Amino acid sequence: NGQRFGGQLVLVTGAGSGIGRATAVAFAEAGARVIAVDRDAESAARTAELSRLVGAAGAWAETVDVSDETAMEKFAERVRAEHGVVDVLVNNAGIGLSGSFLDTSAEDWRRVLDVNLWGVIHGCRLFGRQMAERGQGGHIVNTASAAAFQPSRLLPAYSTSKAAVLMLSECLRAELAGRGIGVSAICPGLVNTGITATTRFAGADAEEEKRLQKRSTRLYGLRNYPPEKVAEAIMRAVVRNEAVVPVTPEARVSKLMAR
Ligand code: NAD
Repeated sequence: NGQRFGGQLVLVTGAGSGIGRATAVAFAEAGARVIAVDRDAESAARTAELSRLVGAAGAWAETVDVSDETAMEKFAERVRAEHGVVDVLVNNAGIGLSGSFLDTSAEDWRRVLDVNLWGVIHGCRLFGRQMAERGQGGHIVNTASAAAFQPSRLLPAYSTSKAAVLMLSECLRAELAGRGIGVSAICPGLVNTGITATTRFAGADAEEEKRLQKRSTRLYGLRNYPPEKVAEAIMRAVVRNEAVVPVTPEARVSKLMAR
């Protein structure tokens, strides 16, 4: 198992925390060279450090905002020049936003779509092209969510961004299938990470924010599904070339309900 991804270059975005960190570390442990990307420099550096502790192939931290098109273009070129073409790309960076549709400002909608949707589009276009040009296959994993197929009054902007990620993943999968490049959409339900704690509530002031945060923690209950299990699902999706992967139990249930 230790060398399952030996000789491969794996790039993970949003690697500074939660699912992204667990994924970077798991790939490192499986023998891959890992590039840990986050907009937060310190947390990306920590993930690279952890990856080096468990893997011997090398791990690097990079500070990039995935929603910044120009920065991503430059970054993709630099990665190719310094490391070569990425074999596995995990577009995982994402932010949460909770609040009713009508209370969500245009600015908030844009912010969520910029990161959750455009960030994934930039990653797929730039690194997908490099994979296609090289002609030696590859795999792209996009972190969508169970929210992609489960309408919600609590998370309209977030759910919309994730439904778009699910669809773009399936379109790209169809396009790249003939070139030996796989594309997977991972759909976890609630996972124990920082995102629910840092999710902002649209239209709420500080006081209201606190109240809603408490309420949502109560609603969601115990978030005890570990990000390490999502990382395993991501690696399995690459190995088996799976298309849409519901991860947590409630994600599987909601996918069935949506059918
Ligand atoms: P997290 O908040 O713990 O980690 C997200 C990381 O992404 C953070 O380190 C953050 O700094 C980084 N990030 C945010 N915006 C970025 C940007 N513009 N550029 C680069 N990095 C950026 O959250 P997580 O739960 O690990 O989330 C990872 C992914 O999983 C997200 O796409 C999220 O929507 C998805 N997801 C999470 C859950 C859950 O319950 N935790 C469920 C389904 C899907």
